[in-house]
Amino acid sequence: MTITSLDQRHIWHPYTQEKTALPPILIVRGKGAVLTDVEGNEYLDLVSSWWVNTHGHAHPKIAKAIADQAKTLEHVIFANMTHEPAARLAEQLTSLLPELLTRVFFSDNGSTAVEVALKMARQYWCNLGETKRHRYVAFEKAYHGDTFGAMAAGKSSGFYRPFEPYLFDVTLMPYPETWMADKSIEEKEVHALSFLENYLEKYASETVALIVEPLIQGASGMRFCRPSFLKQVCERVQSHGILVIFDEVMTGFGRTGELFACQKVGVTPDLICLAKGLTGGFLPMSVTVAQEKIYEAFLGDSFDQAFAHGHSFTANPLGCAAALANLALFEEEKTMTKIAQMEQLHYQHLTKLQEAHPCVTKTRIMGSIAAFTVETSEEGYQAQIGQQLRQAFIEKGLLLRPLGPVVYFLPPYCLTEEQLYRAYEGIGKILGHVFTKTL
Ligand SMILES: *Cc1c(COP(=O)(O)O)cnc(C)c1O
Repeated sequence: MTITSLDQRHIWHPYTQEKTALPPILIVRGKGAVLTDVEGNEYLDLVSSWWVNTHGHAHPKIAKAIADQAKTLEHVIFANMTHEPAARLAEQLTSLLPELLTRVFFSDNGSTAVEVALKMARQYWCNLGETKRHRYVAFEKAYHGDTFGAMAAGKSSGFYRPFEPYLFDVTLMPYPETWMADKSIEEKEVHALSFLENYLEKYASETVALIVEPLIQGASGMRFCRPSFLKQVCERVQSHGILVIFDEVMTGFGRTGELFACQKVGVTPDLICLAKGLTGGFLPMSVTVAQEKIYEAFLGDSFDQAFAHGHSFTANPLGCAAALANLALFEEEKTMTKIAQMEQLHYQHLTKLQEAHPCVTKTRIMGSIAAFTVETSEEGYQAQIGQQLRQAFIEKGLLLRPLGPVVYFLPPYCLTEEQLYRAYEGIGKILGHVFTKTL
């Protein structure tokens, strides 16, 4: 039986309507930004394989680090035991993060990193005797993962209708989404800030935490906000003692042009969640990093005050080894410089694309990420355009996954100038083709 038919018989794919989906493409190899299928067709991975890859596929240095570690210690229970890769990684991460973020709690993926942060925040207040604090604040259209707590914080993403009765209450703040040459941004920010003021006046003393995807809401369509806005929000929230959680699962590890978006905002969150890029895209691993004051609130003579949370594969040594190699490559390959160069290239290419195609609107660029919204005059067509484009892109060897009408780049940092040029050229051709056909 072929691999594809085994897949079709036994596998259930994520975020896929299996009835209408085309058979999956069988990928056999990855190198740099290129994926190769069983027939030898190549695809440029412009989405870093769901935002996880940093320096390219099958990078030999990360591969070697994992192999070496596997021969020495593949895994060990992480309660009452520790190991070198975890200790070194925790030291490295805390030295790269804002100074006050000092305590690293390991888990397996972005959703669990968010669960951990939400739970830590609530128990922090309980441990301090403020058990009445129960409210959480998040932004409209935020996405924080697919487990229950993460779904509650991200419920307006629209993915979770059957579960809504089970999701705890989270106050949703307006999100002042912006793009280049946006004339209404001040107005949107004023509206959002006054919503926050009203909220704080009533509920500040009952609020546990604010959770936010800093600067870019990923899954809801690469929605940008301005650093100055987010800074104001955090300052107001923190001035009431409310905890700020930065969900940097997507924005972490260079995507926005700084290693972490919090550095671009100029804010130190109380808790930060990191996952996707942590191991360079090799292994599932995440961390929730807390300020010392939070850690200290869990110290006590009884277990009740401890954080009763952990996963089988907490701080898996292979994951830690991959993450250490990933971080070393940021230095060795001058990755932040590459990202700055990529940002400049995005400006050049996206400007040209917009000039050539009137359907390209709301252009936005930050670090390695670029996005635009495809506008069509046809009502009802907007929603399907994404799927149609995705198919056309893949046939041209471009792995891009539009989010509804939003086309975006979130490539691995090894993407060459030539590959980026080719990608924009391909997009231009497809937009020209799709739009002469349908309009
Ligand atoms: C992807 C994502 C998550 C969830 O991460 P998983 O590893 O898929 O569970 C959480 N928050 C943000 C901002 C994300 O982009």
